[in-house]
Amino acid sequence: MYTVRIPSTIKFGENALGETEYPKNALVVTTATPKLSGKWLDKMGIQDYMLFDKVTPEPSIDDVKAVMSEYKDKNPSVLIGLGGGSSMDVVKYAAPELGKKKILIPTTYGTGAEMTTYCVLKFEGKKKLLREDKFLADMAVVDSYFMDGTPEQIIKNSVCDACAQATEGYDSKLGNDLTRALCKQAFDVLYDAIMNDKPENYPYGSMLSGMGFGNCSTTLGHALSYAFSNEGVPHGYSLSSCTTVAHKFNKSIFYEKFKDVIEKLGFDKLDLKANVSEAADTIMTDRGHLDPNPIPVSKEDIMKCLNDIKARNL
Ligand SMILES: [Zn+2]
Repeated sequence: MYTVRIPSTIKFGENALGETEYPKNALVVTTATPKLSGKWLDKMGIQDYMLFDKVTPEPSIDDVKAVMSEYKDKNPSVLIGLGGGSSMDVVKYAAPELGKKKILIPTTYGTGAEMTTYCVLKFEGKKKLLREDKFLADMAVVDSYFMDGTPEQIIKNSVCDACAQATEGYDSKLGNDLTRALCKQAFDVLYDAIMNDKPENYPYGSMLSGMGFGNCSTTLGHALSYAFSNEGVPHGYSLSSCTTVAHKFNKSIFYEKFKDVIEKLGFDKLDLKANVSEAADTIMTDRGHLDPNPIPVSKEDIMKCLNDIKARNL
């Protein structure tokens, strides 16, 4: 038997944001400035809402507690996470604690977080990746409206992450027919959008990617990428090389097409400051990504991958 979890209602496509009806007395949680969130809220056409815009980027459990203590007695009808991962993560955690439903509206895209049961929060200063069914959105609203004004570099990194997640998810040992169908469709949509200059389709592709990999896991490419994240390289950028060498190692059906995408987007070579052997030791402890990899991976394999990335031997 297989289980796949996705939000019960998904609103997507052109005008999804404005055409969705939002319950009265909702609590909107965001990291955005009043000027920006004001524009978004107008576009949503939401009325009679409460606004909490004090979420800090890379939020901690304290942000969740702040929302809970301030709004527990005000009895909001629903919690709406409006923003990037930070706003959505706070709502993912706080809504079930308050016994409320949640609506997630991503204003950045790429992670597909609005579709998943993952939640990233800091506890005592340390980032933790949590996964629980209760973190799943009741409704997700995905609209490409938010891409306007997003810097090119961020769009590029985000769509690379979405491609990496879809293709690594397809290869994951934790996958099944349905997750593979979602991951395959996600990559097909993203590939077409990237190669034929249709960025307005990126959010839809990311959404499909989240539905797919969120129900299995990413694999070797993501495991490798954390060596670079530790040195401050943006997640999506590090995946441009990491997922490519991982696909080569795994003999993935996506290897050639993934390379097409990286070339079209135009990513620079990655450098690693850390000692390759030490970085490989750390990567080897990432069982969450390595165990679902379709082929067993040794420390030597990881060192070869890292050296290939450094030499741009993709
Ligand atoms: Zn990722």
